[in-house]
Amino acid sequence: MTDTDAAALAERVRDGDLRLYELEEHADADTAAAARRLLVEEHSGADLSTSGDYAFDAADADSNIENMLGAIQIPVGVVGPVEIDGGAISGEHYLPMATTEGALLASVNRGCAALNTAGGAGARVLKNRMTRAPAFRVADVAEAEALSSWVRDNVDALREAAESTTSHGELKEATPYVVGNTVFVRFAYDTKDAMGMNMATIATEEACDVIEAETTASLVALSGNLCTDKKPAAINAVEGRGRTVAADVTIPRETVEETLKTTPEAVAEVNTRKNLVGSAKAGSLGFNAHVANSVAAMFLATGQDAAQVVEGANAITTAEVDGDGDLYVSVTIASLEVGTVGGGTKLPTQSEALDVLGVRGGGDPAGSNGDALAEAVAVAALAGELSLLSALASRNLSSAHASLGR
Ligand code: NAP
Repeated sequence: MTDTDAAALAERVRDGDLRLYELEEHADADTAAAARRLLVEEHSGADLSTSGDYAFDAADADSNIENMLGAIQIPVGVVGPVEIDGGAISGEHYLPMATTEGALLASVNRGCAALNTAGGAGARVLKNRMTRAPAFRVADVAEAEALSSWVRDNVDALREAAESTTSHGELKEATPYVVGNTVFVRFAYDTKDAMGMNMATIATEEACDVIEAETTASLVALSGNLCTDKKPAAINAVEGRGRTVAADVTIPRETVEETLKTTPEAVAEVNTRKNLVGSAKAGSLGFNAHVANSVAAMFLATGQDAAQVVEGANAITTAEVDGDGDLYVSVTIASLEVGTVGGGTKLPTQSEALDVLGVRGGGDPAGSNGDALAEAVAVAALAGELSLLSALASRNLSSAHASLGR
């Protein structure tokens, strides 16, 4: 790439000869990005030199973005290493987190230290179901009932069609929901190491063809919003979506007092009044303190679909004093949509972050890397909950922020 190439390309856009999205057809991806920077700098007066100073080949991001002009750089750090006793990940691991929120990693790291003193955190994936729920039009409720029965009786045919599009995805459920003369069929897949939204959508389209061929139904929308993707929804909190994953720990009373500077009783009371009662009063779907913080930071670091932090915030935190006077804390995330293949996971820095966890690419067996990533995120969320609840319980939240200068 030379400056002249980019300038010449930009000139052709100014002349109306090319559109902004056509530049890669006439130059390599880095030159196209440079031409866009020139055009946007000229239009806005912004200096985009730092956005243009990225460390990967723009062509590597071809399937991740259109109209690329550069890269936003988000600081990435680690917390831990933290000891994890998971179903798919075990041993000591650093957890990569990318954020611009000062004090977040310090807080999660303090939680990790408490987890380690307690011997580490347990973690398990409980369910893996990526969903797509198309909406069908039928004549009336009698046809709606007939379609629902047909779906329930023909799951094998739907499975055969859906699975013909993928070598990894497995159709696990196809559940009909009726609203008057609209029928939704919520298809649920085990997508192995892929987050699976593209995979599930392609597979569901094939299954919809069978429904339309065999019944009176007409497909109105391949996604009928009962999936539910990237919007707060009770169905995800109840039924799960992506991975349903939980992490927990029992922390000895002495550790709570010495490391977290509070008591098991105080942490349990804060959790009950804030995370349970407060969230109930607010009508919140998230009965937790700040699970979205850990989910977002690990999503950004590891190349997950950032908009799905919405579903990742569907978490319930519990805290109780056990029979020995120690503190039991758990975090259960109902709908954590993660993958270690596909999407943004293949970008170079995101792949490096997956390497930190040892989960880059497909797992052996398939799905094990996705499970391991989900468990690592749940442990980060647990550490974050523990730290913030303890800070609130010891009433030093504002002084911690003040001492970190934020
Ligand atoms: P993808 O990049 O479209 O597909 C990943 C593919 O990797 C799978 O289809 C699978 O191929 C293959 N694969 C190889 N090894 C695998 C393994 N061990 N486990 C599972 N799959 C393996 O990614 P995706 O996860 O399906 O979808 C994620 C992307 O969808 C993200 O970019 C996200 O932003 C985007 N997205 C799409 C929609 C939508 O409605 N389409 C909605 C939200 C987000 P085979 O299927 O051939 O086995």
